[in-house]
Amino acid sequence: MADRAQPETVTMDKIVSLCRRRGFVFPSSEIYGGLGSTYDYGHYGVLLKNNVKSRWFDALVQQREDIVAIDSAVILHPRVWEASGHVEGFSDPLVDCRTCKLRFRADKLEDAQCGRKPSKKPGETSDCDLTEPRQFNLMFETTVGPVQNEGARAYLRPETAQGIFVNFKNVLQIARRRPPFGIAQIGKSFRNEITPGNFLFRVREFEQMEMEFFVPPDDAERWYRYWIDERLRWYLEHGLRESHLRVREHGPEERSHYSRGTSDIEYLYPIGWSELEGVANRGDFDLTRHTEYSTTKLEYVGPDGERYVPHVIEPAVSVERIVVALLVDAYDEEVVGERDRTVLRLHPQVAPVKAAVLPLIGKDDGMVTRARRLYEDLRRSFSVEYDDSGAIGRRYRRQDEIGTPFAFTIDEQTLEDDTVTIRDRDSLAQERVSLPQVASYLGDALARPWRTPKAA
Ligand code: ATP
Repeated sequence: MADRAQPETVTMDKIVSLCRRRGFVFPSSEIYGGLGSTYDYGHYGVLLKNNVKSRWFDALVQQREDIVAIDSAVILHPRVWEASGHVEGFSDPLVDCRTCKLRFRADKLEDAQCGRKPSKKPGETSDCDLTEPRQFNLMFETTVGPVQNEGARAYLRPETAQGIFVNFKNVLQIARRRPPFGIAQIGKSFRNEITPGNFLFRVREFEQMEMEFFVPPDDAERWYRYWIDERLRWYLEHGLRESHLRVREHGPEERSHYSRGTSDIEYLYPIGWSELEGVANRGDFDLTRHTEYSTTKLEYVGPDGERYVPHVIEPAVSVERIVVALLVDAYDEEVVGERDRTVLRLHPQVAPVKAAVLPLIGKDDGMVTRARRLYEDLRRSFSVEYDDSGAIGRRYRRQDEIGTPFAFTIDEQTLEDDTVTIRDRDSLAQERVSLPQVASYLGDALARPWRTPKAA
């Protein structure tokens, strides 16, 4: 059993180092010196992200009758971004420092470090020489086709939402939906952030999960509240501690141009309370603007001839911000039998590997044969790993660090009575179960509701 759980010890550096050490996330293009704040995902990172996406998709699409999926292009018609307001207004205020040549977001100087004296904020020392703020558009530009002229200019999408709005009519007609209904999309978005950083929290290329929920105008406020509650529930269901989650409603001055109400679901990251997910009441802004710019009417016409432009409620989040929140929430260090262990107490449903199959003695043919057989059997339905190299304690530690909730150990007793030891990652409790029942044991364990054993 754990002797001593330690108080909150997690820092962003520890998460970065674990992610690298265990092959979740690598700095991108590392052999060329890396490209600042750009990352590649290794095997466990891919599995973790896939689990996050599939749990989101399951909750928003699979388990509901009123939401359908879409997968729109990354490069849309450039007029889309004029209609959406992004060409004109998707910008952050930028200041340059003439001394250290660094650039900062004028509205986030509090979070930045002076290029010469990192203990100071930009502008705080007498050497700092900041320019006046100017607006910097965050959209990445590209050209489409072989001729690089003004007419070929296009943008990498900075959000997936617009690909949903421009398909509103298709879905309405072909999927035969009527409000309230939603369209959900998962895909890459790109923002030329002035100051990316804090590991995956703010990157220039990220995967968004957005859902646009179209409702009769009079019902918008109710659905806005509904989606805040639903999304908060999803995070709690996936094991994030309630004490580390809060909802913060934007004041009118903070809202985007399209918004009639916005609430951030914030998580207490090591950098402080920060936006995990945004839930916005976008009103009829998007459909009205696309109607105006495309001259295609985007409205709902009911069977009795009633017509209106639906209002839109949007929960929007990136896989990256969820991944960081999950890792931070799960990270734990404790002393077990006088040895330190680092463990990721991830919700079993999001854990990259669900179980490890370990022969106690890697050179024992009888144990290895049975362990391989169990592994081959389990991997047909679950993400599992087989490992026979090194001392058993070290193999457990490796699995603890990647958050594997269960380990099945084949030992001497297995050879006698066909039972295996099940080791629980969190409690370290061990019990025995018969070999033929391992798969159903694992299936049941994964289906059960889960709460973190970490203190609030
Ligand atoms: P911020 O204020 O942090 O820049 P935002 O309000 O511009 O974020 P939205 O436009 O509401 O963000 O984007 C929706 C969601 O997409 C955010 O809640 C966040 O989860 C995610 N997101 C936005 N920008 C980034 C980024 N640069 N890196 C990772 N995730 C991001």
